[in-house]
Amino acid sequence: MSVDITTAKLNLERNGFLDLEIDPSLDLFDEIAKLKKEKKAVLLAHYYQEPDIQDVADYIGDSLGLAQQAEKTDADIIVFAGVHFMAETAKILNPAKKVLLPDLNAGCSLSDSCPPPLFKAFKEKHPDHIVISYINCSAGIKALSDIICTSSNAKQIVESLPKDQKIIFAPDKNLGAYINKTTGRNMVLWNGACMVHEIFSLEKITKLKERHPEAKMIAHPECEEAVLQIADFIGSTTQLLKYTQQSGFNSFIVATEAGILHQMQLSSPDKIFIPAPPDNACACNDCPHMKLNTLEKLYLCLKYEQPEILMDEELRIQAKKPITKMLEMSRELGII
Ligand code: SF4
Repeated sequence: MSVDITTAKLNLERNGFLDLEIDPSLDLFDEIAKLKKEKKAVLLAHYYQEPDIQDVADYIGDSLGLAQQAEKTDADIIVFAGVHFMAETAKILNPAKKVLLPDLNAGCSLSDSCPPPLFKAFKEKHPDHIVISYINCSAGIKALSDIICTSSNAKQIVESLPKDQKIIFAPDKNLGAYINKTTGRNMVLWNGACMVHEIFSLEKITKLKERHPEAKMIAHPECEEAVLQIADFIGSTTQLLKYTQQSGFNSFIVATEAGILHQMQLSSPDKIFIPAPPDNACACNDCPHMKLNTLEKLYLCLKYEQPEILMDEELRIQAKKPITKMLEMSRELGII
């Protein structure tokens, strides 16, 4: 079926997702490479994207790395293979550039667990607190925050503030509790969580550890406290990847979204990576939001330059302040 560009664009704008047929004889890897060059586009992909998307990306990273890349790119178009709040962050940092997301429905349960009107009311109950928000939140929450953080820099950012500074931490209660524990702070926590990191089964992981006593168990701080307690190493996605590259151990049970195993395996082909099992019938834990993006949608997104992230300018300016603060603090602290 051939679809003319105007119809295709209207379809994309109306539906917010890409469902057009693609000529099956096309080599999508080649086509995507050609389109990127032709349109001066950069493809930023999160570690949780499917392997095919990671393999065609110009940069693969976690939230902090992707925000840095988005800040410094000179491309005309940013295609963000990740979820909505990530593409939104790229747009906040690059208002003059076209920012595309292969599937506009790629949301985030953690971001959704913190609606701006409810958070605003919560914040008003704590007028003497500053707000540190994890980057996994909407532009509306960023606009209500003083500093943004990622799991790569949250601990150092909190530690750099005066000890008597009162802080609200949003939206992830597990990451907030972990930072409270490791810094000795008593931040007020918003009660949000990520569905992917909350669903790990302690019982199944414990059994897996018994079956693989040689394996080191590594976990993302968005996991629940009970899972973190049995972890040998806790860190952001990038820190987990580095740990597996630098560690003398050869086998790892990985408690975070399973997409990162692709980069772990690529950089350490002789090591063994076992995804930590969730509390359901699956053997690994995929983020259903991240996995809405596919190579086909990525190709169509580049071809038709849709769906595009658009944002109210006043909201963008407000939301940019705490991101800029994070990037400045991260530089001062020597994290980036
Ligand atoms: S893994 Fe969790 S925090 Fe990340 S996009 Fe998916 S739901 Fe959101």
